[in-house]
Amino acid sequence: MNTKWNLHFKITNWCDLNCRHCCECSAPTQPLKLFSLEKIEKYMYEAARMDKKPNELLSVGGGEVMAPYIHGQDNYIPNLLDIIYKNGFIPTLKTNGVWGNSDRTRIKILYDIAKYAYKYEKLVTLDISVDEFHNNQSGVIKIINDITKEIALSYAIRICLVGFNTQKSLFALNNLEQELSKKDFNIITNEIGDWIITSPDGKNTMFIYNDFSSSVFNSGRAKINKVYTNSGQPTNSDRHNCLVLDNNDIATYNYIYRTQVNNRSLIKIINSFQQIIK
Ligand code: SF4
Repeated sequence: MNTKWNLHFKITNWCDLNCRHCCECSAPTQPLKLFSLEKIEKYMYEAARMDKKPNELLSVGGGEVMAPYIHGQDNYIPNLLDIIYKNGFIPTLKTNGVWGNSDRTRIKILYDIAKYAYKYEKLVTLDISVDEFHNNQSGVIKIINDITKEIALSYAIRICLVGFNTQKSLFALNNLEQELSKKDFNIITNEIGDWIITSPDGKNTMFIYNDFSSSVFNSGRAKINKVYTNSGQPTNSDRHNCLVLDNNDIATYNYIYRTQVNNRSLIKIINSFQQIIK
C-alpha cells in the first residue's frame, strides 16, 4: 500500500446550501455540532509526531467550513488555524463562498485567516466551489474582489476554484470570468487553465488556481483528497490515501471504509484500516 496520505477534518454537517449532489449529507437543517478543537489539537499533535506523517497540506471542510462565523462562533476558525499551523501543517479551507455576500462576515473572515497566514508565514488556501450545483457566484465575486484588490490579503490567501469536469461547471467558471471582467478585472488564462488576474486599478496581480478535473460522482470534494475514482479504485501508482475525521467521531478511509473512532489514537485508526485493506 502506498504510504502517502492526507488528513481532512470535517467540522460540521451544517451548510447554508442544500446541493442535490452533496456527498457530505450537509444541509441547513443539520445541527452545527462543531468538531471539538481539543480533539483536533490531539490529532494534530499525534500527526506531527508520526513516522509516516500526513501530507503537510491538510484540508478542513463540512458542511460549510465558515459555519462557525455564521453561527456567531468567531473564534473557532482562528483557533483551528492556530492549531494546524503550529503543528507544522498548512490549511486548505473548503467553502461554498456564500458568506462573501455579507460585508461584515467577509471582511472578518478574510482578515482573520490572513492574520494566521502571516503569523506562520505560510499561505492559507480557500477552495471555493464553482459549478452547476452552487448558487453562490455573487458571494464568490465579492471574495475574489477583496482579495485581489488588497495586497495584504493576496499575499496571504491562495484561491482555488473547484468544479467538476462537466460542461456545466466550465460554463459556471466562464460566467464568473465574464462577471469579473465586467468589473474591470483583467484575466489571462494560462496553458493549464489557471487565471492570472489583475485588479481594476492595475496595481495587483495574482494567480487563481482552477481545478475542474473531478467526476461529479466522486466521493468527497477535496482536490488533494480526490484520488479515487467512483469505482473506488486508485487512479495511479502515486496516489495518496485519505483519512477523514468528522464531528460525529467517525473516521473514513479513502471514502470507502468507515469506523467509529472511540477515543483511539490516530495511529491506531490508520492501522485498523490498513489491516482491513491488506
Ligand atoms: S455547499 Fe458543499 S457541503 Fe454544502 S450542500 Fe453543497 S456540496 Fe454539500
